[in-house]
Amino acid sequence: MDNIAPIFIDGKWEKIKTSEFGKVFNPSSEEVISMTPFCGKKDVERAVKSSLKAFKVWSKFSYAKRAEILFNYRELIKSNKEKIANIISLENGKTLPEARGDIQRGFEVVDFACGILHLAKGESLSEIAQNIDSRTSLEPLGVCAGISPFNFPAMVPMWMFPIAIACGNSFILKPSEKVPLTAIKLAELFQEAGLPDGVLNIIHGGKEVVDALCIHPNISAISFVGSSHIAKHVYTLGAKHGKRVQAGGAAKNALVVMPDAEPKSTMNSIMSSAFGCAGQRCMAGSLLVGVGKNIDSLKQTLIDRSNELVVGDPLKNEKTEMGPVIDGNSKERIFNIIDGLGETGVKVIRDGREIRNKEGFFVGPTLVDNVDSSHPIFSQEIFGPVLSILNPKDIEETVEVLNKLNYGNGATIFTSSGNTARYFSENIKCGMVGINVGVPAPMSIYPFSGWNDSFYGDLHMQGKEGVQFYTRQKVILSRWDNLYEYKSGW
Ligand code: NAD
Repeated sequence: MDNIAPIFIDGKWEKIKTSEFGKVFNPSSEEVISMTPFCGKKDVERAVKSSLKAFKVWSKFSYAKRAEILFNYRELIKSNKEKIANIISLENGKTLPEARGDIQRGFEVVDFACGILHLAKGESLSEIAQNIDSRTSLEPLGVCAGISPFNFPAMVPMWMFPIAIACGNSFILKPSEKVPLTAIKLAELFQEAGLPDGVLNIIHGGKEVVDALCIHPNISAISFVGSSHIAKHVYTLGAKHGKRVQAGGAAKNALVVMPDAEPKSTMNSIMSSAFGCAGQRCMAGSLLVGVGKNIDSLKQTLIDRSNELVVGDPLKNEKTEMGPVIDGNSKERIFNIIDGLGETGVKVIRDGREIRNKEGFFVGPTLVDNVDSSHPIFSQEIFGPVLSILNPKDIEETVEVLNKLNYGNGATIFTSSGNTARYFSENIKCGMVGINVGVPAPMSIYPFSGWNDSFYGDLHMQGKEGVQFYTRQKVILSRWDNLYEYKSGW
């Protein structure tokens, strides 16, 4: 089979022999474009061995030498951006502008990693006691591993490995079996940039490999992003085996529209937040909270805009605004959820099932009205282009209702009142708040800051917390005074 995705161990690309594979689709055409081999414990063992060997050398590279390689990598990503965007669009289905955004966000992390020494420099204080100086040194952990989801094939792995590697660690990446090709391209470019063999290894697979990474005695830290039940499992298993773990999970994010919100920009933001990436973003707005009495025109505009949305194959039609969902299972799961809505007392006012029989894993934009916190759809992550509409009477009721959610990634408010925005951002219980920003995903210098069941762990990905996660602190006390001016032996 020619189309088997290779693994990358010790600087070599290998096609492994296994009987278990996952299919990589072009979600727009349902064509199988590659096969992901499921590695076993033996492959994990080889990856760890290579990473341990590489760590001994890489951790002794100076920050300047590491930065040189990261700068090369930065340039290579920039010059290959279109190629990478095409791979992302092909295996994930997102539109080319969305794919460019995916790689751009990852690129910004590499940018951040190039100058990481500013955050990795520790602190010092002279004369903390008489003739005693004190300093802290941030040291790499060793071998770190990352497990990523399908929805951001570039950005999410790049929240992890550039920072870990810039801090002097070696890294094993296990990308989503649904989108292995982007990760392969990212590793090829890092190798071309001069990264020594074994500093970044890539293996493929599912539960067997992930569990093996979580329990391996020579792995120091695990970064995970995916659904909440698996995030919790990885967090528990990794922590039980003495590792640092950061594990991002699922989400249900609200877009709150106040009566004084500016209509045009608000509507553009809602459309892109709810239906961008076909709703497959952990920061996608999936609850539209229209506050106050007059939300009928808001709903009508939403229906009209949804009817106009160009849904299709992004690589065949550059006017495409929404691509497919990732695979047939996702498509059927989402349609089954919509099928069951009638029984729960909510009302579908724009039905995405009209394209159920079209070739490709397409789901049309769907609007569900009359939702309140008692309906299952209020708190369930659908991960598709389905937007539920709530209508609380005021901002206080809005906050009270939204704070019943178990997840805690993002929430946005659209308003022209600073006072209302301030009340909302102070009282809403989630980690990333937008004020007139539809997708409040932080840039690389800030942590991706989920709360509640959207994150398990202490230190988030990206920013200063990313550096803290991938290093451990040593405090060094030294005493130099006349007593130590000792000229000869004992
Ligand atoms: P997923 O949980 O199915 O898979 C994530 C990773 O876990 C993959 O690499 C997969 O191979 C692995 N995996 C699958 N089953 C496993 C098991 N039983 N044991 C151990 N590992 C297993 O998630 P997905 O469908 O790829 O991605 C979508 C989910 O990711 C959504 O819930 C979304 O909200 C979430 N997400 C969260 C963030 C965040 O920052 N919080 C960002 C992006 C996506």
